[in-house]
Parts: sequence; C-alpha cells; structure tokens
Amino acid sequence: MSDRLPGFNTLAIHAGAAPDAATGARATPIYQTTSFVFDDVDHAASLFGLQAFGNIYTRITNPTNAVLEERIAALEGGTAALAVASGHAAEFLTMHALMQPGDEFVASNKLYGGSINQFNHSYKNFGWSVAWADNDDPASFEAAITPRTKAIFCESIANPGGVITDIAALSQIAKKHNIPLVVDNTMATPYLIRPFEHGADIVVHSATKFLGGHGNSIGGLIVDGGSFQWAGDARYPMMSQPRPEYSGMVLAETFGNFGFAIACRVLGLRDLGPALSPFNAFLILNGIETLPLRMQRHSDNALTVATHLSKHEAVSWVSYPGLETDRYHVLAKRYTPKGAGAVFTFGLKGGYEAGVKLVSNLQLFSHLANIGDTRSLIIHPASTTHRQLTDAQKTAAGAGPEVVRLSIGLEDPADLIDDLDAALEG
Ligand SMILES: *Cc1c(COP(=O)(O)O)cnc(C)c1O
Repeated sequence: MSDRLPGFNTLAIHAGAAPDAATGARATPIYQTTSFVFDDVDHAASLFGLQAFGNIYTRITNPTNAVLEERIAALEGGTAALAVASGHAAEFLTMHALMQPGDEFVASNKLYGGSINQFNHSYKNFGWSVAWADNDDPASFEAAITPRTKAIFCESIANPGGVITDIAALSQIAKKHNIPLVVDNTMATPYLIRPFEHGADIVVHSATKFLGGHGNSIGGLIVDGGSFQWAGDARYPMMSQPRPEYSGMVLAETFGNFGFAIACRVLGLRDLGPALSPFNAFLILNGIETLPLRMQRHSDNALTVATHLSKHEAVSWVSYPGLETDRYHVLAKRYTPKGAGAVFTFGLKGGYEAGVKLVSNLQLFSHLANIGDTRSLIIHPASTTHRQLTDAQKTAAGAGPEVVRLSIGLEDPADLIDDLDAALEG
C-alpha cells in the first residue's frame, strides 16, 4: 500500500482491528471477561503503576473496547479515545478531568435536554457551575468567560434539531482565553463533521445514536484531539500536577498529546466507574462499519422529508439546515457539505395539541426518546425530553410547545411521507 492515509470508509471498517492473534477470528471478538491474568508479579506492578500498557480489569481497559477507542480516534482524527457506558458518562468524565470545585464552564444553550439537566443540576454537587451562552452569538460565549472558566461546551449539529454551530468561531475564543473547546459530535458523527479540523480540542459522543446506529446499545466516547497544552498549566491539575494516585506521575508529561484521554481513563473511569460493556462495544463497532453509508442515507432521506413538510399546510415552519431557505444553510454548506444529518424539528400550526395528536396517529414512525436509529423516530419534546425545563428554557433550547422532532431513518422516504401525511390529516 502507498503512504497515503486510508480514507474514511476504510477506517470505518478497519481502524483498530486486526485478525485475532490467538484464533484468527476476523470480526473483533467480544472479550467478555472482567479481568486479565498477569504474566508475573513484576508485570502486574508495571501495569498498576502505568509503566506498561496492558489489561488489568475491564472497568479500566478491555481489548474489545480498545478497538472501538482506536476506531473513533481514527475517524475523528484525534490522538486517543476512551469508551464509556453512555454519552452522559462521556460528558461527565470529560468535565471531571477539567474541573475543580468552584470552577465554571460556558455552554451553548442549544443542547440535548439531558445535558442541560446534567449541567444545571447534577454538577452543582461537584461545585461546578455552567454559564449559558447563545449558540448563534459567539460573542456571548466570550462575555461569559471568567478567570474560573475551564472549558467551552457545544454540539456540532445541535439538538433537538436544525442548528449548525460555528465551531471555528468558538475555537478562536477558546484559544484566545487558553481554555479547551469540547464539542458533542453525536448528531453529526465524524462522517458529516470532524470538529478537530475546525479547532475543537476534545470531542464527546453518545455512541447510542448514529455510531451504534441500530437503537440497541447505550454507549459513549471521549476523543482527545491532542491539541491542548496541559503540561505546566496549574489550572488543570488532573493532567498537569503530580498525581498521588500514581506516585507523583504527571500525566501530561508522561503521556504527552494523549494525556487528557489517559486522565479520563485512569482518574475518571477508574474511580467513578461508568465502564462500557464489551458486548455493547462490539455492537457499536458493527454499527460504525456502515456509518458512512447510513449517515449519507439518513441525510438524503431527511432532506426529502423536510422538503415535503416545508410545503405542508398543517406545518408552520421546518428547521432543517439542508433546506436552502434555512437560516443555518450557509453554515451547513461550510461545516456539513455532504448533508445536514437525520434530525430536524418542525412547528405545527395546531400547537401542543396537534403535536400530541401527530405522535399518536403515526404508524411507521416510532414515538420514543431516541435519535439515530435505522428506524424513523418522532418525539414531541415539550411533553417528553424537555419536560423538566421551564417554558423559557424550552423555547431557548428550540423545544417550544408546537415543536415536533423527527429522526429520519433508512426506510423509503415515500413511505415516511405517506405516514406523516395520513397522521397530519387524521
Ligand atoms: C443522547 C445524547 C446524549 C446523552 O447520551 P446517552 O448515551 O443517552 O447517555 C448527549 N448528547 C447528545 C447530543 C445526545 O443526543
């Protein structure tokens, strides 16, 4: 083979994987074991002291999970990755590595409802506080930065749908203030957007969605972009200060440009424990093999359905950046030229009641709280995912009472359109 790096389709199938050394198995085996036998006492000591790479216990590393970690690092263009039990665990362990009690971070106001809850409420118990900024106004992120701000957090394509974030503009602000930019890339996946190419420092995923892609496994991933200089920066003691857990080792010095991923693993995952089951890692790996095909079809189908709805008399508006008339279309062309993803929202002229009626009438669409399945999904955020938020927060998050969210699957778009038309009439 030439020196040229393999392309995205090839990496989606091969990155991190090789025939099993012991058996020749071509698919990645599921190493469904809690623990791994040490060669001898010295080997055990070097593993526990982080002097050698190897497996001790599946809460910290596992060979099936390691293939998934290498695969996502390759697809995102990062230096290393960590697989964890859920997208929320990925967000939490990321913040755990960045934040100390009393610290703050600035987050976009256009986020998955669960992330808004995690940031507003659960983080208080750790003494971390969030300052909300307007996703459409990069200057509002800068205005919210204080000397205690340790990170900026946004989504690439933002939940519940139809918002494209100007990652490069946020990266400029992050760099100016020397803080890392964390991008939740769940909705885009690296097939549509690779945040590191636009200046992100850390990427997190809910692998539950498009990476797994079949609605069968919860999982999360943290990807280290290798770009942030932690070494010598006392604001980030997890990476930059001697760690008592590892006899004074400084992770950013020992592990260089993947020191952040190591901190998330050996301080966060080791001590807090949200490990991914190897079985789920296997299913997510299977999903990733077809990620490029699926994301393209998701995006193409979503554009077809969004175009249809935008002309429907019961519909007041459609928010899908793939539509030429959409306010985010210019950003979409720049950040996600292959397509704008599967998920979008639209407004019903009949308001809250019409939203409730639509979800009850549909046959082919499933009414449930997920996105990124092969199947088409629908939810009425105001009565479900965004229910806990105040009305102002709902509207700020793009989840007002008349809003319906679709996650368009891989079915024939004509069948999806028939289902929607019948339900809107019924
Ligand atoms: C679902 C989701 C999460 C949370 O992931 P889980 O795997 O459900 O814990 C975080 N961010 C985004 C954008 C999501 O869609």
